[in-house]
Amino acid sequence: MKLKLTFSLIFIYTHIVLSQNFENPITYECKNDLRFLKSSSSNTITHDFDILYYEIIVNWYNVLKSSDRIYPGKVRVVARVDTLISTNQFYLNSYLTIDSVKKSNNQLNFTNSNGVLTINLDRTYSQNEIIDLEIYFRRTRTDNRGFYYYPKSSQTLENLAYTMTEPSDARYWFPCYDDPSNKADSMRLIIFVPKDFVATGNGLLERKYTIGDTTIFVWFERHPITTYLIAITASKYSMFVQNYTSKYPPFETIEIQNYQWQADSLRSVYVMRNTGLMMECFEIYYGKYPFDKYGHSAVSPFIYGGMEHQTISTIHRNWLTSDGQYGIAHELAHQWWGDLVTCETWKDIWLNEGFATFSEDLYKEFTQGKSAYFSSMNARANYYYNYNPGYAIYNPPQLFNGAISYYKGALVLNMLRYVLGDSLFFQTLMNYRNQFSYSTATTEDFKNIVSQTAGEDFSYFFNQWVYQPDHPVYIYNWKVTQNQNKYNLTFYLKQTQTHYSVYKMPVELKIQFPSSDTTVRVWNNQREQSFTFEFNDTINSVIFDPQNYILKQASRDISLDVFQDNIPQKFELLQNYPNPFNSQTTIRFSLPGKDFVSIKLFDLNGNEIKTLVNGELNSGNYSITLDASQLSSGVYFYTMKTNSFKSTKKLVLIK
Ligand SMILES: [Zn+2]
Repeated sequence: MKLKLTFSLIFIYTHIVLSQNFENPITYECKNDLRFLKSSSSNTITHDFDILYYEIIVNWYNVLKSSDRIYPGKVRVVARVDTLISTNQFYLNSYLTIDSVKKSNNQLNFTNSNGVLTINLDRTYSQNEIIDLEIYFRRTRTDNRGFYYYPKSSQTLENLAYTMTEPSDARYWFPCYDDPSNKADSMRLIIFVPKDFVATGNGLLERKYTIGDTTIFVWFERHPITTYLIAITASKYSMFVQNYTSKYPPFETIEIQNYQWQADSLRSVYVMRNTGLMMECFEIYYGKYPFDKYGHSAVSPFIYGGMEHQTISTIHRNWLTSDGQYGIAHELAHQWWGDLVTCETWKDIWLNEGFATFSEDLYKEFTQGKSAYFSSMNARANYYYNYNPGYAIYNPPQLFNGAISYYKGALVLNMLRYVLGDSLFFQTLMNYRNQFSYSTATTEDFKNIVSQTAGEDFSYFFNQWVYQPDHPVYIYNWKVTQNQNKYNLTFYLKQTQTHYSVYKMPVELKIQFPSSDTTVRVWNNQREQSFTFEFNDTINSVIFDPQNYILKQASRDISLDVFQDNIPQKFELLQNYPNPFNSQTTIRFSLPGKDFVSIKLFDLNGNEIKTLVNGELNSGNYSITLDASQLSSGVYFYTMKTNSFKSTKKLVLIK
């Protein structure tokens, strides 16, 4: 009898809550997701509005109490009309049973078929008008899609209900405009659960109250959020809090809330021991943690290892039993790359997954040093060579392919870091963050940020590594010729891949002398190219790309004629590379015939600073390294003179 009474009370209360308009504040940030207009989406529905707010109410009481998978809900959708044309139809994605749609308490007509909810508005709406709708729905499906329910079992320690929707399953648990490009400016979750259960959600817990046998959790995310990052997890959880103090003013304390089953509590305290350190690492490299709280909800079973729901990652329980440190770092890094800056379309998924995977290794570098970073990158490269499916990281046919979206994505960032140098690379990431915070970005957006930050067009880099599949295939050979006390090294490099004409990359060569070594960097921008260097010592060996920065296949072919590179047609002095530079740069020049050559460095006032070359040389393409470690920052000039040729170029030293 008591039970029955409770149920009917709940029913009445649910009904009241679902019927009333929640008088909760809505924050509209001064942001307009106009950018989504240019996105191409897998949806067929048209999008002529910008979502401002979702308020999602779900009653999971019966789900968790009696394993009844069918639940009622209500969603309030507030949107602004975006297009110039007026609209009288409003479209959402929904695989739910829709009971009614109301606007200002008036019923609206609607149809709901093939996953599309079409609402006939009461009148025509023009640009910038606000549409505020309430949709009463029930999830009448009993499958695990978008929404998952598992009753208590050996692997599920308590009845467990949660949502998991990336990329496009949010429409299976609440009606929404389900596209990553259209973030709601804010979002509220109101979840009904039996009173001994806990419901986790995005943002901050605004209210929690119990009526009879039901507890209601109200979570509010005041930051923009896209549908696939909205999540609820509910079970009989224990929770412990860690506090992290931000490294940035006003040095706020950010709560890290960890939810797990009671039996896993101690283990969770141990496994989460480094979350603060990870926060510190990513705040140093990527800037301030962008949300109000962070946390983990542990579940089992789970189709993924972890999922970066905004402010509250869902993790597989086996990360607690196995100590999944790098998974935890990966999901945390997604709060910057994925949640703060979200891939605008699923074609750009590497902007989420490549960045988060790169971040795992960055955290490794932060805690264990650079060699740990390199060995992890090498392991990823080997995995990629073994499992490369042969498509590009942009617009991959399989979104979550480990070798492509995750590993090659991370390796491309590693190569970008190599080409730009640390200072420009991390500045690029900060600029990318600053421009696309709480919004979405495409691969082209990221490319443009790289080009702007570097002051150089990086289209070549993105074309060869992001928009094209696979990687270069190099063959090389080298030879040393002695000229009195000097040793001339000629390094010949040839690209033989058939899918792409020329990969342009700086290439490092490590030259080993009997008792020392030196590493030079040359700019390889031709399919066949040779580089000549002059040394005072005998050369034992040359290692091509010693740090394995470049994703490639490479082998030495000792039968290759190193002198087959064409004899230059003309005198030429090339721009040094890199430029600007810090301490070391390479200067290339060409001689069509044997000649006396001098190359000297001058300061702005014309004072001679250094002699780089002074003597007779044979025809060929030469590279010399300028070591400016003893010079101060500034602009310098280098001049090449022969009997019949003179050329001057400017270089910039930045220390
Ligand atoms: Zn990820």
